[in-house]
Amino acid sequence: MFTVALLMAMQAEADPILQQLSNQVDSISTEPLPIKLYGATMAPDFQLMIGLNGKDAVTGVDNIGSEAATLTTQFVLNKIKPDLVINAGTAGGFKEKGGKIGDIYLGFPHIIFHDRRIPLPGFDHYGLGLYPTPGLQNLATRLRVKTGVISTGNSLDHTTRDMEIMQQGDAAVKEMEAAAIAWVCRLYNTPLIALKAITDLVDTPTAVPEQFVQNLATASNNLAAAVFQLLQLIQSVNSIDDLFA
Ligand code: SAH
Repeated sequence: MFTVALLMAMQAEADPILQQLSNQVDSISTEPLPIKLYGATMAPDFQLMIGLNGKDAVTGVDNIGSEAATLTTQFVLNKIKPDLVINAGTAGGFKEKGGKIGDIYLGFPHIIFHDRRIPLPGFDHYGLGLYPTPGLQNLATRLRVKTGVISTGNSLDHTTRDMEIMQQGDAAVKEMEAAAIAWVCRLYNTPLIALKAITDLVDTPTAVPEQFVQNLATASNNLAAAVFQLLQLIQSVNSIDDLFA
């Protein structure tokens, strides 16, 4: 019996997945938290729980970013103790690293933060995070997706220093949640697969928000296809560790 938690930040990213599962999904209350939680029985021995960060009551927009991701991850991991966490979402890519709009990446070999700059002994490493991921090369080959370092920060744009840290960290993917989720997964000793679809390229002249809005729907559809492929693979293994062989 596997229990898998699929954690996502934005409703628009999750909609293509929820639509495909619509006849098997139950909504679960998390009051007073904004988290949206759905349960789906994928097979008699395979339970999927989908957790979204939900909306901000004041502004009405999705609760994106690391704080909401931490809250959702803690809530879901504490409640259901999954065997595996999948974090699926959109992200920025790097042209210099061969990234293209619509590409799918698995976060490997680690996930870092690029906006926690604390130049004090010990805290510098703490700030960077550097959460190792399971071995995902074989899985990436089977899913026909790329692998790369994911870098998390709480802004859609980046400062010059952010860019330096991302380059030093060999980042191929920039987004706003994965490292926070990785931290909570480490606390619970639960493996994390972060799966990211590229909506924009951060090292090109076109403004990121413009690219993001233009490519969100396409990238979310690609993301849904990759998530379902991964869920199917999970159904075919005897143990979650087999995914990382
Ligand atoms: N402006 C968007 C708001 C969300 S963009 C809108 O109109 O709906 C940020 C979300 O997408 C975050 O959840 C983040 O994880 C992801 N993302 C996509 N591209 C990103 C980038 N270049 N930098 C940081 N986060 C990015």
